[in-house]
Amino acid sequence: MAKLSRRVLLGASAGGLLVMALGSRAAGNRFVAVRIASDRSYTRVSVEADGKLRYKYFMLENPYRLVVDVEDADLNPVLGNMAGKLPANDPYIANIRTAQKDGNTVRIVFDLKRRVLPKVFGLQPEGDVKHRLVVDLYPVAVAAKPGDPIRAFWDSRKPAADAPAVKRDRRPLVMLDPGHGGKDPGAIGRNTRIREKDIALHIARETKKLLEASGYQVLMIRNSDIFIPVPERPVLAQKAKADLFVSIHADSVESSEPRGGGVYVLSQKGASSAAAALLAANENAAGSIGGVNMGGNKDVNQVLMNMVQTQTINDSKRLARFVLNQMSKHNKMKNEVQYAGFGVLRAPDVPAILIETAFLSNPQDEALLNSEAFRRKVAHAIANGVKQYLGVAVLARR
Ligand SMILES: [Zn+2]
Repeated sequence: MAKLSRRVLLGASAGGLLVMALGSRAAGNRFVAVRIASDRSYTRVSVEADGKLRYKYFMLENPYRLVVDVEDADLNPVLGNMAGKLPANDPYIANIRTAQKDGNTVRIVFDLKRRVLPKVFGLQPEGDVKHRLVVDLYPVAVAAKPGDPIRAFWDSRKPAADAPAVKRDRRPLVMLDPGHGGKDPGAIGRNTRIREKDIALHIARETKKLLEASGYQVLMIRNSDIFIPVPERPVLAQKAKADLFVSIHADSVESSEPRGGGVYVLSQKGASSAAAALLAANENAAGSIGGVNMGGNKDVNQVLMNMVQTQTINDSKRLARFVLNQMSKHNKMKNEVQYAGFGVLRAPDVPAILIETAFLSNPQDEALLNSEAFRRKVAHAIANGVKQYLGVAVLARR
């Protein structure tokens, strides 16, 4: 498996591989090498450092740019000179700019020749090679090469009739998931007996109105008091080809002490077990597994699944941060995005978040959740966060 993924993913390295000399300065995270390799199918930029790199990235249009912010790092000559290592004939990158954005963030801007599908991820040290931040740039539209499952996979992720500078042929589709329903009331307020399922539906309906008023398509997993099993919910989102999935809940614990909200994305562990379950149920399957088009080979399927999930989780985290920031304006929130194995978040190819709006087990929060005004604020916060995400997201996968 390890061998295969390296062969497939690093297949381009035979071409113009460039390695820069080691830097000289010792800092928190020191950049030690930059490698740029490209072939006709994609370009890989690999930044090596002596510590694990934390990063954020986003795309900009007019002109197309990919911006990568690397945290806890100082701009050093190794990184500063990376533009000089870019082959002039790289199919996707016109130029690379670097700057010290603030005290501990280095910004890398890739000026692009065309629209691309970026994949940004970290790699653990291996042999002599230290921690790496990898930026892969794939064409959004490529001609299929028969028998190349990776290529066929990326083809399958692009929207129909897509071409550079041509807009998507449909409006973004948001799937809202009011938690619980029907025979499952969810949590119940201690003072007012209000039910989580009703609160969630109310907030989802408000959010739907706001998003539709902004021109987005919105579907609801349920829009009435019906029971839909948790495992069916991500499947419904996939079938609808939703661009993102937002599950709305209210929290409850035994103690009446905890209050405030939180935004959750699928944990890596949850993702691995979801992938394992899907792959185990579809041993050697060709066709589609959980919305992901597969080759006929078990190991290739694994690689494809990992690629999709990495991108989906990165997108989910970005969505979660936007919504979290918006929600923080109206209630106490957990500062960071939370990770959990929630079954409802397990679609491998749909960015998904779960929002715990507040605690029904806490009197103060219960009063908030029972008020029309607070629910409307939450709906605004969700809608605004979703809009911010859709403003920068790369929605080329369907
Ligand atoms: Zn719930």
